[in-house]
Amino acid sequence: MFLDKVTIFVKAGNGGKGAVSFRKEKYVANGGPDGGNGGRGGDIIFKVSRDLNTLINFRYEKHFKAENGEGGGRKNCNGKQGRNLIIPVPRGTVVREFETGRIIADIFEEDKDYIILKGGRGGRGNAFFATPTRQAPHFSEEGEQTKEFNLVLELKTIADVGIIGFPNVGKSTLLSTISNAKPKIANYHFTTLFPNLGVVQYFEHSFVVADIPGLIEGASGGLGLGHDFLRHIERTRMLVHVIDISSVDGRDPYNDFLVINDELKTFNKKLTKLPQLVVLNKVDIATPEQITEFKKKVGKKYKVIEVSALIRTNIEEMVTEIYKMLKDIPQPEAMPTEVMEIDKRDTTSINILKKKEGYFEVSGGYVDNLIRSIVLSDYASNAYFQRRLKDDGILEMLKVKGATNGDTIRISDIEFEMLD
Ligand code: GDP
Ligand code: MG
Repeated sequence: MFLDKVTIFVKAGNGGKGAVSFRKEKYVANGGPDGGNGGRGGDIIFKVSRDLNTLINFRYEKHFKAENGEGGGRKNCNGKQGRNLIIPVPRGTVVREFETGRIIADIFEEDKDYIILKGGRGGRGNAFFATPTRQAPHFSEEGEQTKEFNLVLELKTIADVGIIGFPNVGKSTLLSTISNAKPKIANYHFTTLFPNLGVVQYFEHSFVVADIPGLIEGASGGLGLGHDFLRHIERTRMLVHVIDISSVDGRDPYNDFLVINDELKTFNKKLTKLPQLVVLNKVDIATPEQITEFKKKVGKKYKVIEVSALIRTNIEEMVTEIYKMLKDIPQPEAMPTEVMEIDKRDTTSINILKKKEGYFEVSGGYVDNLIRSIVLSDYASNAYFQRRLKDDGILEMLKVKGATNGDTIRISDIEFEMLD
């Protein structure tokens, strides 16, 4: 089964907690603080894997967590960093944020690390907080806790060449004769429900060909299977348009040609700009008149080649022609992407809200960040917290908003009384 859209959950590692520790040396009383910093959490990284063609691996495995950073230790030992988690995906996987649908990354370049989520920062150990006036801080920072994100992975098959045409014209047969692909071939419509990919070897070169199924009249209007799968050809560099020139199914070949091109236009105008090689298939059972009539109608606008996929007539010539056309067409570019918010950490915003008379709430990135470093049960830590509120101007801002002595101030889940 071909799976081209999945939802997964990812979470970068938490930062490790900073340590609280004091030097213990023989004959030295009251050693100084030596608690080390916590380690950074691991990142979530996506990477192209050449061995993957589908997203099928994500069908059962949906939760991905990078390792947490370890806590800091004594003797200024910093905690070990959490290991990054590398998630291999097929080339052409588009990563979106589930809630917004925003594109976060287009996994396109080989050997590149696409860092999707950054690990949490490690908390600082108590050694960091020592100052001349606070020689024995009994507190340290918590590590930064990361959130779980819900992502949608969507595979946009990146084939160089897309094979299009009515059902039963011989697309799958053609793909199997020129490539390593083993598509299902049968004499009925909709043989192929999912795009088949094949690698075509041309001397020392190779290119990827996709058999695009189910393109029928009305598909772009939601009929049949075509519409969904057309997404897969959006990024191909050229099209091979296969025509059953023998008319075994009783349709007019030239009319087939017009109908399919119309379908392309309805789906996405850009597709009609792709170079097209017109392949007249089943010449083994066609009459010379059928071929000349088609050629006359289509004129000189398209390059036309006659083949038989079944008995392999003219197949090498066709591959040569495809290769020659591809050489002149540039590679497609990666889609423009945005980096997810989590990388732009907010440590400065401050919001003060008067909830009711005598009750104020302070929120925002600044306080979230400050709270991490506070252990309120610890006297020194508490004092540090109070001083930061004063030094960083929060008390002043509260006063401007009308807070006075005795009012209740809430920060995160802490409530305290305003005392000037
Ligand atoms: P698709 O639906 O376009 O993928 O078509 P298939 O590749 O499944 O082929 C449909 C039918 O046409 C099968 O029975 C094939 O054996 C037959 N066929 C394909 N190519 C040729 C050809 O060149 N000559 C003849 N006589 N039959 C062919
Ligand atoms: Mg087929």
